[in-house]
Amino acid sequence: MSKITVDTARLPLLLNELRLPAISRLWQDIATRADKEGWPAARFLSALAELEVAERARRRIERHLAESRLPPGKTLDGFDFNALPMLSRAHVMALAAGDTWLAKGANLLLFGPPGCGKSHIAAALGRALIENGRRVLFMRTTDLVQRLQALQLAAAIGKLDRFDLLILDDIAYVTKDQAETSVLFELIAARYERRSLMITANQPFGDWNKVFPDPAMTVAAIDRLVHHATIFEMNVESYRRRTAIARKTKPDRQSGDSSP
Ligand code: ADP
Ligand code: MG
Repeated sequence: MSKITVDTARLPLLLNELRLPAISRLWQDIATRADKEGWPAARFLSALAELEVAERARRRIERHLAESRLPPGKTLDGFDFNALPMLSRAHVMALAAGDTWLAKGANLLLFGPPGCGKSHIAAALGRALIENGRRVLFMRTTDLVQRLQALQLAAAIGKLDRFDLLILDDIAYVTKDQAETSVLFELIAARYERRSLMITANQPFGDWNKVFPDPAMTVAAIDRLVHHATIFEMNVESYRRRTAIARKTKPDRQSGDSSP
């Protein structure tokens, strides 16, 4: 039987024109395998399509990680759940899947003293959600307020709509002069029941009077935040402090050990 020859000279050009980089890179390997194993044409075509789609998903996640401003290295795998007996690992993992709470614009509020792991768990959840295809932005609340103040507010809040989840780290660190402009209230009101917020704070609500221009607005903001919210109260001692103490009390040098 004579071997059928196919003119593939134009193929790289065509695939480039169609913006199919994964197929362009891999089709020859797959074609060789398909020829060798006698794949039906339909199987060959769907194998290529799957590759391109997988590559697009991977690149999209990379872009979303790059835009997220998440602090590096904070993952759920790297979080010691034993340090927080009141926090259910299963609950956190369910939130990491994201489907139900993000779909209805529900919120997650994390309270606890400095060092208890609020920013870590917030960032780790953000990362997991991005890996599950969501868009997330992580910001210190004071930085976000500054950014909103510098821009045309409605447009800036509109732009933040593209994020399924906005993580406002350390809301209680907003300063008096920042609070006077009420941009944070506008943001909370605009996202209410549509787009999720995750908020960390050292104090649950008590301190929040200085975050908003007046007490009525504080009440209105808290009301919207808690209406559809999961609240984690992380009342444990600072993880930093505990690990420092653990290092100190552990005999850190055995007799005869001369290492520095
Ligand atoms: P907070 O935001 O509540 O002040 P952080 O999340 O910044 O605290 O935690 C302080 C440090 O301790 C960070 O380096 C964080 O990664 C680490 N850390 C806190 N809790 C845990 C934990 N349960 N497991 C692992 N690391 C933790
Ligand atoms: Mg923090």
